[in-house]
Amino acid sequence: MELVDIGANLTHESFRHDLDAVLERARAHGVVQMVVTGASRDGSEHALALARAHPGVLYATAGVHPHHATDYDADTDALLRKLIVHDEVKAVGETGLDYFRNYSPREVQLRVFEQQLAIAVEHGKPLFLHQRDAHADFLALLREARDRVPAAVVHCFTDSREALYAYLDLDCHIGITGWICDERRGTHLRELVREIPAHRLMLETDAPYLLPRTVRPQPAHRRNEPMYLAHICEEVARDRGEDAQTTAAASTATARAFFDLAATIRG
Ligand SMILES: [Zn+2]
Repeated sequence: MELVDIGANLTHESFRHDLDAVLERARAHGVVQMVVTGASRDGSEHALALARAHPGVLYATAGVHPHHATDYDADTDALLRKLIVHDEVKAVGETGLDYFRNYSPREVQLRVFEQQLAIAVEHGKPLFLHQRDAHADFLALLREARDRVPAAVVHCFTDSREALYAYLDLDCHIGITGWICDERRGTHLRELVREIPAHRLMLETDAPYLLPRTVRPQPAHRRNEPMYLAHICEEVARDRGEDAQTTAAASTATARAFFDLAATIRG
């Protein structure tokens, strides 16, 4: 079984001391490639550095998360434009809108999202998108840009059926995290995930966040890692009424096509 984790925050400080061991454990659990999320100015540079250090295994995105929108200035914009031309950088993002936390004011989030949409349009790169409690504004901006970018994934999808179909109608991909493994809040997702076409469905851990609740025993440190991606694959497979091999093969093929990843050679 080969899996691709399309969203791993491996630049997070919690991975600083043992990243090589994390990557080894990922591989031992079938996670053969990972896309390192760039969510800030420094984080995006760091993500590219990690991708360069692990060719064919790690890839990167370059973007600024809506939480950090107030940090986005002309230098940040110039930096993202510099990063996006590298082969290892496969998408613009993480970008989008988050009205759940509102760490940055909404008007700033909207402007910074538009600026990053423009970068994706100009460079013909896919989008790696975050949306929480901001569906209407998010959809309006995405709709304007959608036919001018090659592909777009709404990562960590946790929203409603209506939102899901709005994104699918725009020919977006959907990223599913370990949220679905949480019996307290993932129930609606378990039904919705059946309705996502296989060629639009991808899997992600969002490590170190969102440790799947189906991991037993739960590690004391609570850090999520790419090696737990199989738990998400198994839950999605169960909900879709298919075996995990089928979900794994389809989501891996979809991720490789979306991010233009090399097919790995079995070792
Ligand atoms: Zn996110």
